[in-house]
Formats: sequence, structure tokens, C-alpha cells
Amino acid sequence: MEKTQLETFKNLFNSIKNHHAANAIEVGGELVWSSKGGDDVDLSSRERDRELLLKLQGRNRFYMKKIDEALHRIENGTFGDCAECGCEIDETRLEARPTATHCIDCKEAQEREEGHIPYSKRSHTHGLEIVNSNVVRMPNRNDNAAAM
Ligand SMILES: [Zn+2]
Repeated sequence: MEKTQLETFKNLFNSIKNHHAANAIEVGGELVWSSKGGDDVDLSSRERDRELLLKLQGRNRFYMKKIDEALHRIENGTFGDCAECGCEIDETRLEARPTATHCIDCKEAQEREEGHIPYSKRSHTHGLEIVNSNVVRMPNRNDNAAAM
């Protein structure tokens, strides 16, 4: 991959990391705000907020780990190479999903083996948008099969 392209991805990852930092504070702020509700806010809804926050934090941490790994791959020159077969991952795939570690062929083979598609629609919570916007939009294979 060309150096300028690597720079582009590096900038992208860094901006996602910055965006994430701002977003984490935002989510934390909401929690503080709802806890101030006093008697109006019952314990169970506070519990729910707490659970949601933990879930978001866990998911963001997972995603940030992938971002860090991708940045690491840029540093050691393996970014854009498939971890399975070593071929170059398709550029359009990397643009849609910059943290991809496998080419589409290996990824699909992997999914067939696992017998499931890991990308499902998730909640519309603000904090999850970063994650979702980087998910590859796959055609619904079941629909295609039914149409044919
Ligand atoms: Zn591959």
C-alpha cells in the first residue's frame, strides 16, 4: 500500500480515537445527570443506565483495541495484508471497514465455518454509531436466495 494511503488510514484511526474520547465523556455525563434525578429516578432505571454505560464502554474498548491494532499494523508495515492468506485486502473493503484483518474471501470462509454472520443491527444509541458506521454493509443473502 502506498505511503500516502497509509497516512490517510492513520489519520482516520487517530480521529476515530479522538472522537471516541469525546464520546465517552458524553456518555459518562448522561449517567451523572440521570443519577441527580433523586427520588424521581427509581433504582432500576439507574441500574439500567449503569448497565448501558458498562456495555458501551466494553464495546468501545473492544473497538478501540482494534483501532490500536490497526495502527500497529501501519507501523510495522502489515496493514492491508490479509492475516490468513497474506494477500492485499481490497481497498474498497478497507474503506468500508478500516480495521479489517482478513480479505473478503477468508472472512467469508471464516463466517461459513462459524455458521453465523457476526454483524447484526444494534441499538441506535449514539455511542454505537462509530462502531456501526465501520461495519461492512453486506447484502442480505437470504433475500437474494428468495428472489432467485
Ligand atoms: Zn485472505
